[in-house]
Amino acid sequence: MIWDDFLNSEWHDWRGSGKYEDRLLNPYQLQSFMNRHQFLVNLPLDQEDIKYLQQLRSFLKEFVQYIVAGGTSPGWRIEELNRWMSEELVLRELHSNEEGNYTLSFRTMNPGLKGVAADIAASFATTLSEGESTRIRICDNPDCLWIYYDDTRNRSKRYCDDKMCGNLMKVRRFRAKKKLQSDTSDG
Ligand SMILES: [Zn+2]
Repeated sequence: MIWDDFLNSEWHDWRGSGKYEDRLLNPYQLQSFMNRHQFLVNLPLDQEDIKYLQQLRSFLKEFVQYIVAGGTSPGWRIEELNRWMSEELVLRELHSNEEGNYTLSFRTMNPGLKGVAADIAASFATTLSEGESTRIRICDNPDCLWIYYDDTRNRSKRYCDDKMCGNLMKVRRFRAKKKLQSDTSDG
């Protein structure tokens, strides 16, 4: 999805080195994000444009944290999300072919950065309305904080990646337990 890919542009080293990168500030990463989602914008972005995207990211991130914490009355967040989406006008067109098939197409009327931001906001709104908001997760590894959508059948996915963050946390729990045991036996 576009929105989680966008939110994860804030990268934290899951191994716990404390390293952090804002990938919106990395031209190569930003270009590949735009390519992945077929956004046509002129790069590099200027300071103002980057700030605009960072504002959207802060807003969406707070919304995700609110949902993950179990919040169910988002209030002002809905208006704010609608405001981001309203920056783009979409033209809908119905087409038909000789076989009697119909297709509906969407054409955006203001390509450019505001349109990109509106598309990102709309992808989040789509997940909220068509997906299940209770499947939105933040990785349980406090050093990682990767944001994802849990599409497992039993909704039990606690880590972005069981082999990486899951194992790391298992090792940490094991060590903490060992330490506790040796501390208590030392008196
Ligand atoms: Zn993780």
